[in-house]
Amino acid sequence: MKYCPNCLQPDTRPNTVFTPEGICPACDYWARLANVDWQERYEILKDLLAQYPRRPGQHWDCIIGVSGGKDSTRQALWVRDKLGLNPLLVCLSYPPEQVTERGTRNVSALIELGFDLVLSSPAPGVWQKLMRAAFDKFTNWARATELALFSSVPQLAIRYNIPLILWGENPGLQLGDLKTLGKTGYDGNNLRYMNTLSGAAMDWMLETGIDLKQLIPYQYPTPEEFDEHALQVVYLGWFLGDWSLTNNGMYSTANGLEIRTDPVENTGDLRGVTSLDEDWVTFNQMIKYYKFGFGRVTDYCNEEIRHGNMTRERGIELVEKYDDAGSDEYISSFCDYIGIGKDQFWDQVHASVNRDLFTIHDDGRITRKFEVGVGL
Ligand SMILES: [Zn+2]
Repeated sequence: MKYCPNCLQPDTRPNTVFTPEGICPACDYWARLANVDWQERYEILKDLLAQYPRRPGQHWDCIIGVSGGKDSTRQALWVRDKLGLNPLLVCLSYPPEQVTERGTRNVSALIELGFDLVLSSPAPGVWQKLMRAAFDKFTNWARATELALFSSVPQLAIRYNIPLILWGENPGLQLGDLKTLGKTGYDGNNLRYMNTLSGAAMDWMLETGIDLKQLIPYQYPTPEEFDEHALQVVYLGWFLGDWSLTNNGMYSTANGLEIRTDPVENTGDLRGVTSLDEDWVTFNQMIKYYKFGFGRVTDYCNEEIRHGNMTRERGIELVEKYDDAGSDEYISSFCDYIGIGKDQFWDQVHASVNRDLFTIHDDGRITRKFEVGVGL
């Protein structure tokens, strides 16, 4: 395990490749942003949008997937108010056990801001069964639900005959998942290859005995379907010089977004602006930390360090303190939902801990073998 010398990204992130000098892809990208002509990019975006005129009889110019979170709120407002487009917002709804009241209020707020919004609700029984199966198989309950989240947007683009899909973050450039890079910095049609969506997705779901027909919400449209409907995913982050977790959070909060009030010890969320619509993602980040040696606090600090808002030393302190944050209350409600006991939860988590990176003690404590910012 090696760390990027600029930020706190270890090379254990799936699909990542550091430069020969040992710099992580996100820092490498950030360094090159200093020379970007943002006005030129804006012109490129205007030219691109001109290639997708509103279809005859159509009400909307493009589709945007929203969760009612900071990124999607900012995107929706920017697309409407700066680009002058009329987007159709698509929101995948969670079952009542999972969604937070804050999340539903944030989605309502978007509708009150004047947007048209389609809510897609996968069947709750199948959702719950898949979440349990994903946790059992991958110790990652979000494996299926993220598929539904990502798939709902191109699926509805096809259904509503709107070929242009505006997506926020480019996971290749902004996080370092290099398989998602397309022909250009804004081409998002390779989003399907991101770690979350890859890997014989249907097979394990079919093994649960759930009928293929019931898995429709979890099927990301194929490259052939993309071609047939001329779908184009465009990463908006490529055009926005100040696209970041913190900036999007501030911008959206100023426009009425309701954020978290629970402490960072529970969530690993330094500013309370992520995963506003549900709580279980917070301990999934803790599990990710035990698998790969980095969690959400690392992602936060990396961005702040790159932007010059935090020193690497301060980042190390925060990562050491909070990257394994997880709330007992949220873990309990999750266990109740998928029908397992807490012991079973921890047995499963322990089984997925990367033993090269961590030691599991007899009393259940998990401690790191690596030094944050230095490696192993
Ligand atoms: Zn870096």
